[in-house]
Amino acid sequence: MSGLLIVTGASAGIGAATARMAAFSGWSRIVVHYGQDKQGAEETAAVVESMGGQAYLFQADVSKPKAIARMFEKLSDIKPGRVGLVNNAGIVGKNASLADLTPERVEKVFAVNVFGAIEVARQAVGLMRGWGAGGAIVNVSSAAARLGAPNMYVDYAASKGAIDTLTLGLADELAPEGIRVNAIRPGLIATAIHAKGGVPDRLEKIGHTPPMGRPGTPEECAEAILWLLSERASYVTRSILDVAGGR
Ligand code: NAD
Repeated sequence: MSGLLIVTGASAGIGAATARMAAFSGWSRIVVHYGQDKQGAEETAAVVESMGGQAYLFQADVSKPKAIARMFEKLSDIKPGRVGLVNNAGIVGKNASLADLTPERVEKVFAVNVFGAIEVARQAVGLMRGWGAGGAIVNVSSAAARLGAPNMYVDYAASKGAIDTLTLGLADELAPEGIRVNAIRPGLIATAIHAKGGVPDRLEKIGHTPPMGRPGTPEECAEAILWLLSERASYVTRSILDVAGGR
């Protein structure tokens, strides 16, 4: 598969696993995007390159539209090809109930998870149109969009509900151009996001609760993402795939 795969938030967790596995799955050129964790991004890029792929390291805070625009300006100088986008960068706030959801916190969650994802998609589709070789998008939602995450982070859950809806609308809007848009909804996945949300032992406490009795791995999410991006999923668009062990 020739083309350029753009993975946002590829310095850690699901994004890093996706970029690494993409190099094994035949994507020869991979944009390893990161927000702050340069070292994590460099580690991902090293794996991509050890597989013979070409890694492009880009820093951009996805909550800053100008930073996203700068990244895509530089990307437009790269040799054209089919574009894959994994709209993965995301955050959770600390576990809290409604009274503690300050406007500043909610704004930040939506700025990264929703406004950032929309702007990244907008820029990526501009690149796809400019290069004329088509493309596919996978948005990373969350099972929280279905469950609501009460007393944890309803703001995060609502932001992922927006990602589900964005996926449906963009899929319909872009299908006539041959651009497929899908999403995955990870459940409890073993990444550092739980510690960043203030509950480092979350998986020890509730990792056994999905029907499959265990948390998922970032690689299990990456498998689903890469299948949705691939030609093996050529008739799949507007789908939201749960990767949640039955949760
Ligand atoms: P993670 O914290 O390991 O990775 C998140 C990535 O997003 C990191 O690379 C981080 O640098 C990047 N990022 C965060 N804010 C950013 C910003 N402002 N600008 C640029 N990059 C930024 O977490 P993860 O679990 O790998 O999460 C990846 C995606 O999966 C997120 O969208 C998350 O909501 C979703 N998700 C995770 C789980 C889970 O249980 N781990 C469950 C459901 C959904």
